[in-house]
Amino acid sequence: MSIAIKPNDRTAQSLFALCERLFPICRSITGDGVRQTLAILKEYIDLNIVEIPTGKAVLDWQVPKEWNVQDAWIKNSLGERVVDFQNNNLHLLNYSIPVHRKIDLAGLKKYLYTLPEQPDLIPYRTSYYKENWGFCLSHHQYEALEEDTYEVYIDSTLQAGHLTYGELYIPGIIKDEILFSTHICHPSLANDNLSGISVLTHLIQYLKSRKNKFSYRFIFIPGTIGSITWLEENQDQLQHIKGGLVASLLGDAGDFTYKKSRRDNTEMDFVVEQVLQKARVPYRIQNFIPYGYDERQFCSPGFDLPMGNLTRSQFGTYPEYHTSADNLALIRPEYLATSLAVYQGVVNAFEKNIFYQNLSPQGEPQLGRRGLYEAIGGNSDAKQLQMAMLWVLNYSDGAHSLAHIAHLSQLDYPLIEKASQLLESKSLLKKLG
Ligand code: ZN
Repeated sequence: MSIAIKPNDRTAQSLFALCERLFPICRSITGDGVRQTLAILKEYIDLNIVEIPTGKAVLDWQVPKEWNVQDAWIKNSLGERVVDFQNNNLHLLNYSIPVHRKIDLAGLKKYLYTLPEQPDLIPYRTSYYKENWGFCLSHHQYEALEEDTYEVYIDSTLQAGHLTYGELYIPGIIKDEILFSTHICHPSLANDNLSGISVLTHLIQYLKSRKNKFSYRFIFIPGTIGSITWLEENQDQLQHIKGGLVASLLGDAGDFTYKKSRRDNTEMDFVVEQVLQKARVPYRIQNFIPYGYDERQFCSPGFDLPMGNLTRSQFGTYPEYHTSADNLALIRPEYLATSLAVYQGVVNAFEKNIFYQNLSPQGEPQLGRRGLYEAIGGNSDAKQLQMAMLWVLNYSDGAHSLAHIAHLSQLDYPLIEKASQLLESKSLLKKLG
């Protein structure tokens, strides 16, 4: 699978169009922005919407108050809006408490956030777990503010309500399941979270159009508190999860980045490595670190789920990250479509991933007697194929999958697959499961 997608590809267009639709909504970890987002997704996929009440204890946390906002601005003494939430919802510190007051410039500056190093961009800032208010603006805009008496208005509510998330389950032939998760809490930012939402929505449509061996579960949740809430609510069914990915940052031009599971040696880790290798896309693989997206929760030691984080650029490493420059101009249809193809590749590799049992495990079986040397004789990759047979025979003890053996041997997966088919045809292997 070598992936070459043109910008006018229909799926690429559809992926981008969904990001465009969702972009204007002011989302947060709770509130109507999340509900509106999930309602739009419901037009594409049969999402189940879950509401968890404020105050509910979830693991070591509590479901927070629900936040909603209508309007927010700073006016100068002439009554002109010098900072206006209606122009860009990043202008408001996300989760700001309601405020209406007059304030001088020095007082106002204590509530303003800018990026002096990137003076044209508006930063994205939140204050979820500490009641506060504030505005974010470009450093140029900040420097242009004159001595004046300003009127500050934030028409928001922060009160008992719900935390909302979306979930969708696609039953397969077996109950073992693969979990895909993405966060839905960022306002008008494109790569950091709309790309993940759009890719997973299209991956659901792909899986729904066919029969699958594994069962698949998708969750669209607010970051951190959403995964903590979901884990609290679903503790008794986590044993079905055989692999999973946290999806985010899938629309930019960056190389693919796979951050491995905490366990470091799960089927998902082997499968993603194999798919990225086969896709002939630039990529890097990193070990788990307890920082990043919701894999922090899924891979906390009490759960230690076999889940990784598959992105293009990594969080915090591209200059547009968490700024107004992470907009629709940063993401491109063909990048989204390549990401979707890689995710589809992961699903397909998982579906095809096989465990074999070596039926002649005591010593090496005599390959020559079974015509296996002739079988590979004319092949240009004869030496490699022979090596692949030895790897497959040695590790086919029922505990190592083909993806795992490909990882151990550092041989290409197709070669490992071909070797196992040859050995199976000579009754040296038996397929398990
Ligand atoms: Zn983010």
